[in-house]
Parts: sequence; structure tokens; C-alpha cells
Amino acid sequence: AELIKRLEETIENFPDFPIPGIQFKDISPIFLDPKLYEDVIADLVTFSKGKIDAVCGIESRGYLFGIAIAVALEVPFILIRKKGKLPPPIISEKYDLEYGTAEIETREGQIKKGQRILIHDDLLATGGTTEAAAKLVEKQGAIASQFSFLIGLKGLGGNEKLEKFGAEIYHILEY
Ligand code: IMP
Repeated sequence: AELIKRLEETIENFPDFPIPGIQFKDISPIFLDPKLYEDVIADLVTFSKGKIDAVCGIESRGYLFGIAIAVALEVPFILIRKKGKLPPPIISEKYDLEYGTAEIETREGQIKKGQRILIHDDLLATGGTTEAAAKLVEKQGAIASQFSFLIGLKGLGGNEKLEKFGAEIYHILEY
């Protein structure tokens, strides 16, 4: 509860950015406060401890916390990147955006068959990005075991979209 309060005081909300209707949550002030960052990582590590074999972080803010979770748990960290950034061979997954489509990719062979994977990102909105990440993980014979986020936005269908994976879902705070 104390961590939630400190995060609420730190994360800044920008109405109508980058487009009208979006409540943009800026997490960058967390990095001005190393003790807060440390406590966020400790909280996310507690959620995943003993339950996963690797962490997949979603570009780019998913890297800021995901890599620290993986190092603390002494498990591999795999980058899920946007299209066109990784050298081949790669595995990719397309998904729908509000307008058009997007694609995410990982290096082939970095995710191993049977691994229990934590998929981590800073924020869950519609769940489209995370759902695609989970499909990418399962395509490689691994298990999407857990999802963690700093922030979950309520009412956008994110949790519902992830339910089918039967994985644990955690966000430190919800708006
Ligand atoms: P979704 O695919 O709709 O769940 O959107 C989640 C993705 O969009 C994540 O990678 C977030 O980093 C990003 N995102 C969406 N809304 C916000 C926001 O308000 N602040 C920061 N990132 C956001």
C-alpha cells in the first residue's frame, strides 16, 4: 500500500497525449528516485520468484524493469522488439492496432521449449501488445506463465484479453 502511494505521487498523468482521449502515464520520474526504483523491482521480483525460467521484456519501457527482474532472479532476459530491429533468424507475431497492424519479434532460439516465461511491460492498456507477446512465446514451445506490469488501465479489456493464457497477472497499481 505504501509503494502504491509513492508511485501514485510519482507517476505523472498527461490528458490528451499523444492524441486526444488518451491519459498518458509518464513513468520517467521513477528513475529520478533510485530507492523507489529498487522497491518497485523488489515488488515485481516477489511476484515472480520461483515461478519462471526466463523474462521477456517488451520494447521499450518493458526493458527498464524487466532486465532488473531477470538479473535479480538469475534467469535469462529476452528482448521482444518492434519489427525490423533484430537480425535474422527471427520469430515474429503480427497484431492489430486501432489503426493498422504492428509486428513484434524475438531472436530465434533465445526462448527455449518448455520454459515458464514472465512477460513484462510497464503498462497494460488494451492488452494487444502483451497478447501478441504471449503468442510469440507459445509459438516457440514455451509457456506464458506470468504477466506483470507497473500499471494496469481499467476498462480497456486488457485483463480479459490475457485470461485465455491461464497465466497469473499482476499490476502494482490500477487506474
Ligand atoms: P496495449 O497494447 O493497448 O495494452 O498498450 C500497451 C503498450 O502501450 C505498452 O507497451 C505501453 O508501454 C504503451 N502505452 C499505452 N498507453 C500508455 C500510457 O499511458 N503511458 C505509457 N505507455 C503507454
